[in-house]
Amino acid sequence: MSVSLINGSYIVAGLLFILALAGLSRHESSMRGNILGAIGMALAIFFVVLGVMLGTYEGAGTEPSDMAAHTAQATVSQAAPPWAIGIIVVALAAGAVAGVLRAKRVEMTGMPELIALFHSFVGAAAVLVGWVTYFEMAVSGHFDGLHSGELFIGVFIGAVTFTGSIIAYLKLSARMPSKPLMLPAHNLLNLAAIAAFLVLTVLFVLMPEGMAGLGLLVAVTVLALLLGLHLVASIGGGDMPVVISMLNSYSGWAAAASGFTLDNNLLIITGALVGSSGAYLSFIMCKAMNRNFISVIAGGFGGEGAASGEEKDYGEHREVSAAEAADMLANSTSVIITPGYGMAVAQAQSAVADHTAKLRAKGVRVRFGIHPVAGRLPGHMNVLLAEAKVPYDIVLEMDEINDDFADTDMVLVIGANDTVNPAAAEDPSSPIAGMPVLEVWNAGQVIVFKRSMATGYAGVQNPLFFKDNAAMLFGDAKERVEDIVRVL
Ligand code: NDP
Repeated sequence: MSVSLINGSYIVAGLLFILALAGLSRHESSMRGNILGAIGMALAIFFVVLGVMLGTYEGAGTEPSDMAAHTAQATVSQAAPPWAIGIIVVALAAGAVAGVLRAKRVEMTGMPELIALFHSFVGAAAVLVGWVTYFEMAVSGHFDGLHSGELFIGVFIGAVTFTGSIIAYLKLSARMPSKPLMLPAHNLLNLAAIAAFLVLTVLFVLMPEGMAGLGLLVAVTVLALLLGLHLVASIGGGDMPVVISMLNSYSGWAAAASGFTLDNNLLIITGALVGSSGAYLSFIMCKAMNRNFISVIAGGFGGEGAASGEEKDYGEHREVSAAEAADMLANSTSVIITPGYGMAVAQAQSAVADHTAKLRAKGVRVRFGIHPVAGRLPGHMNVLLAEAKVPYDIVLEMDEINDDFADTDMVLVIGANDTVNPAAAEDPSSPIAGMPVLEVWNAGQVIVFKRSMATGYAGVQNPLFFKDNAAMLFGDAKERVEDIVRVL
């Protein structure tokens, strides 16, 4: 198959990916964005596989039979032997079946851990591509500095992404405590690892061959695997959203590095798109969480206050029943709902939408305040509310609504905890100190829907629950909201 045809299909796929990203930037167009991205990926896979099966040849008039002269170029290759085609078909089928089964079964609340697992696959693939390319170079005896450097960097980023994502998966799926690992001088350890990587890269570019080259490749792989483990293990629960978007970015750069190693333009384009959009998302997340972008990249954040997360005595909390809450709501003129992870767990979004419609029909002004890291993935609450058909114009971002709490009669905190924790603003020793939160306590009355007095994801006590103007409505969020709807 002609190289120009393959490159043409790559450009179309690349454009579809860009349109997909543009579509995903707004609720209204997100479905279209998803479909465009899926079409782009299907096109890319189709042409890559076809190119491997049929072999590629370059330029007008050049026939596949002339390809021996071009074998040094990765873009020009002979058709794969039947056994290799068999392996590709089996791998494609196995991947597709596993992907469809997993995606069908995954709950919305399990998405972040699934994404973390996907990132680990990208990292592992980048490491394998680097190693296989190294062995190919060793067999052919053809080493060049630029290629060696690309390969080395790809292995490093891939290995950091691999172990970092595995730890993120374990933390997000609660298979590992979300508490940060605090080794002595952990920031220095990270910086020393990055410095060692730079030195190893220079040495590898200078002497990629023989046992020295192999030793350096082993050294950078081990170093990067350990760095990935340490980077993510030392991040506290409250800061995990930034880690996810950061690993997303790393996985993109790992794919781009593989693209350079394999001379594949589409991998470079796709990797750069994922890498840069992930980096921008990390930047937005850092701003939302009041964290320093550079220290996030270097892994040196999120644990400073961790030691002070011990229990404090905030006094007694007050409880209300659903009937009392309904009564208070009926007498309110303005209500803000701040949903969190618990709304997703309870799948309470449709009940919340019914409840909102009922209140609005009674003339109550109802709005939603969405914290940028509420739930377990960026935009989690927006997706759930859109699914339940809550009108977009009453769903506001934290910055748009934070000043309005003081003029609001009632706030319903539905399954949110860390994102409404005043300790972030008031207690400099708190592990989540500095993180901007929804200032719900400034409202006239706050009702917190949750099942117990347990902490949120960051494992930090919430003094909101003990404030004079706050009351707890215990139970599953969906059941309690439905109780209120019945009374209303
Ligand atoms: P939190 O995780 O802080 O709290 C959720 C609360 O929901 C819990 O306290 C829990 O209390 C309650 N809950 C759970 N199930 C139910 C249920 N069925 N009915 C009623 N309540 C329930 O949620 P937030 O959304 O406020 O904060 C998100 C946290 O997750 C932040 O720390 C954020 O940093 C982190 N995070 C966010 C990511 C993102 O990208 N958005 C990714 C990774 C982490 P109880 O058990 O008592 O019911």
